[in-house]
Amino acid sequence: MRIKKGDNIKMLSGKDRGKTGKVIRVDGKSGLLTVEGVNIFKKHARPRKQGEKGEIVSVTRPVKSGNAALVCPSCHKATRIGMRIEGDKKSRICKKCGATI
Ligand SMILES: [Zn+2]
Repeated sequence: MRIKKGDNIKMLSGKDRGKTGKVIRVDGKSGLLTVEGVNIFKKHARPRKQGEKGEIVSVTRPVKSGNAALVCPSCHKATRIGMRIEGDKKSRICKKCGATI
């Protein structure tokens, strides 16, 4: 996966299509990203003790990385990520403006 923790992404599909957010967790094995403010579900927590109130908590669920595109920090567009290899160094580049990410 080419998206890393701390990247800003834009959702391309799903209920949060068009939303942008910061990646807070990457799961490379399953190809899932957890993105701040994206794919939030409300969960109703039941009261555990008597006299306690039930509450609604917001849970951020991971999204498929294929539904997200990186937002280039240089041109601020949602872009695909290219790779540039210089010697034994690999760096990510923006396919739109060519900036190193
Ligand atoms: Zn760019």
